[in-house]
Amino acid sequence: MTDESSNQLPSTPYVASPGAQTATSLYIAGSWQAANEGGVREIHDPADASVLGVVSEGDLTDAEAAVAAARRAFDETDWPRWNTGDRGEILHRIAEALQRDRERIALQESLDTGKTVEEGRIDVDDVTGVFRYYAGLAHSDPGRVVTAPEGVHSRVVYEPVGVCAMITPWNYPLLQLSWKMAPAIAAGATMVIKPSEITPVTTAALVELAVEARVPAGVVNVVLGAGGTVGSALVESPDVDMVSFTGGLTTGRRIMSAAAETVKKVALELGGKNPNIVFDDVDLDTAVDYALNAAFFHSGQVCSAGARLIVHSDIHDRFVHELARRADAIRIGRGQQAGVQCGPLVSAEHRGKVETAVQRGVDEGARLLVGGQRPSAPELADGYFYRPTVLVDCERSMEVVQTEVFGPVVTVEKFDTEDEAVALGNDTDYGLSGAVWTNDTARGERVAAGLRHGTIWINDYGPYIPAAEWGGFKRSGVGRELGHAGLDEYREAKHIYRNLAPEPQRWFD
Ligand code: NAD
Repeated sequence: MTDESSNQLPSTPYVASPGAQTATSLYIAGSWQAANEGGVREIHDPADASVLGVVSEGDLTDAEAAVAAARRAFDETDWPRWNTGDRGEILHRIAEALQRDRERIALQESLDTGKTVEEGRIDVDDVTGVFRYYAGLAHSDPGRVVTAPEGVHSRVVYEPVGVCAMITPWNYPLLQLSWKMAPAIAAGATMVIKPSEITPVTTAALVELAVEARVPAGVVNVVLGAGGTVGSALVESPDVDMVSFTGGLTTGRRIMSAAAETVKKVALELGGKNPNIVFDDVDLDTAVDYALNAAFFHSGQVCSAGARLIVHSDIHDRFVHELARRADAIRIGRGQQAGVQCGPLVSAEHRGKVETAVQRGVDEGARLLVGGQRPSAPELADGYFYRPTVLVDCERSMEVVQTEVFGPVVTVEKFDTEDEAVALGNDTDYGLSGAVWTNDTARGERVAAGLRHGTIWINDYGPYIPAAEWGGFKRSGVGRELGHAGLDEYREAKHIYRNLAPEPQRWFD
């Protein structure tokens, strides 16, 4: 195990812009402002627990002001009826500005979340692609004429859904927001964004770029603050038409139930416990390499992490031996340090949950091959680091196999037959994503067809494409992001039926 860290931060200022300054972190009705009651929150660096900056902390009154601004922009301006090409232009301008500011935003994302700066750059590039994709889609869909009875002209048009609350998590603050914000702008909706309270800075940065791209006042609003105050105020507001939420299952349940009161549209992107199934006919080196990425990228704090390895028994021992050897060699340290491969977990509280889950796994009978502890290097002692962990001899009934650990922890189960592999892969309440590794094309397709998850990779792990829908079966969520369906989440279909020659029907004569 190599533990590396550095106390030297790059010189780029963390707090560089109005949206990341204490007095002006909320953006409501076209102006940066402080929280009504003057609340503030410290943002911590997960690599050493130091204070990175201080931002405004909104409350219920800020949430109400932001909803009112979004409501006015929707009801009283012509934004919902803007030419779709002009909305597409805004999205293009945001994409260009993201690339211009790539380094700064990648660094901010790295500092807030602990991920490496290189991962931050990948996020900025992915987000740019999402804005470009929806810029193109904004132009393309004027509605459709449908087959109707003689004497009738019938068409379906699409209108923006209204005011949207967008509530996002801490692991991919920028990316998860882009999946909501880009299609909502393309559709002509207005929005109030509430990022995770512990990683708000790149959300403010993205909104700054939207302002620069000339998004009209009131269309995009941001309120920083806690889930239980600002988040629930948005969900409960009768003036919000839709909630789009990405986060954990427990919060998702709460949101769905709170939204029922006002019967608002709900889109939920929740967690996953994603199977990575490896047959015995694969190139071991390649499959192990991808299995490491699947489990340990961003220290496993990824909704689609391949945290549940299911390996054919004929190659199991060789596979786990090699996996453990390479996992143990992963260089952990501060995400801004060159050569570091895994950063810290996001908070002390979250690391505590990961430690508890691993201990429970061991108590249930799983065998710890590597990891299962904090790194020993003294320079990492103040950060929330945890060593990549491989648990073998795992059984489907174990809690550590069934629950989302959301840390650098992979469990390994064995299988012998294809049916057994599919059954194990589906033996979860979640259904977000999964992978199958085999050189047998027909078998790969059969397993992909048998798995009940929203995304299946064959001989790969992790990539997504803006044009392809992303979302969960079962308890991984409701609705889809990305793709055409990701735009439809922010639109209502309206049927306009024109009788071309009305005559009395005399039904009641
Ligand atoms: P979380 O559920 O704790 O918080 C997510 C957001 O919800 C935060 O902004 C939080 O402040 C807010 N919130 C909390 N309570 C609320 C309430 N009562 N009402 C309204 N808002 C509330 O999740 P997290 O810990 O930030 O993120 C990790 C989770 O996100 C994991 O489960 C992960 O799998 C999931 N996730 C899913 C996807 C996906 O695409 N399916 C992507 C990324 C993350």
